[in-house]
Amino acid sequence: MSFLMPSIFLGHGSPMNALADNPYTREWAALGIRIPRPRAILCISAHWYTNSTAVTISTAPRTIHDFGGFPRELYLVHYPAPGDPQLAERVRQLLTPVPTALDENWGLDHGTWSVLKHMYPDADIPVVQLSIDATKPPAFHYEIGQRLAPLREDGVLILGSGNVVHNLSAFIWGRQGGNLGDTADLFDARVRELITARDNQSLIHYDTLGPEAAFAIPTPDHYYPLLYTLGAGKADDLIQFPVGGIAGGAISMLAVQIG
Ligand code: ZN
Repeated sequence: MSFLMPSIFLGHGSPMNALADNPYTREWAALGIRIPRPRAILCISAHWYTNSTAVTISTAPRTIHDFGGFPRELYLVHYPAPGDPQLAERVRQLLTPVPTALDENWGLDHGTWSVLKHMYPDADIPVVQLSIDATKPPAFHYEIGQRLAPLREDGVLILGSGNVVHNLSAFIWGRQGGNLGDTADLFDARVRELITARDNQSLIHYDTLGPEAAFAIPTPDHYYPLLYTLGAGKADDLIQFPVGGIAGGAISMLAVQIG
């Protein structure tokens, strides 16, 4: 019997979600139980946003605390999942001819561990991270997702971690009132609509989606992981949205499960 792993996108929100017990984190935990257990996880996190394509090859990736000003307990979180150098090598081959560096320095950043800590609390599934090359256009990231799709047949969970709406300056401002929450809701709803309609071209060309998109995606680092998840999808995959909601009027917690 063969099965296809889903391709998933999670809105990770605040790093504090790593320690929280809230509707988002409970749903991440439920998702980890509901889907087939992966052999390994390939995570594309908004927080490894750099100027090249690279995969982690360490056998014991370190937990990176890539944030400032949070409580001490968050710096004490460790997610000791093993790496998977063979998977890293396979990713490099699948991406050919895109040059892909095998990276020994990066580990697991909070885009990865803040959600995996809930999905797989035992940290016993190997995790590899793939960087996002900030110098490339949106279509490049979607195409990388397409090239990664065969991994789904091999028990690998492709996991994009970002946020469909991610406007930190509005996050503070939005809490003081105003209708910014509506803008976030509008774009969140538009993204759901386009994903459901399998209109991936519009999602790739998000800059044509009007002022809501400009509000939602002031920089594309948290949006691009969605394009990897979508790229790894197949035409007949079931599409579900296991998590929804807008945090602070400006962060969409939307999760997308394809397959
Ligand atoms: Zn983030």
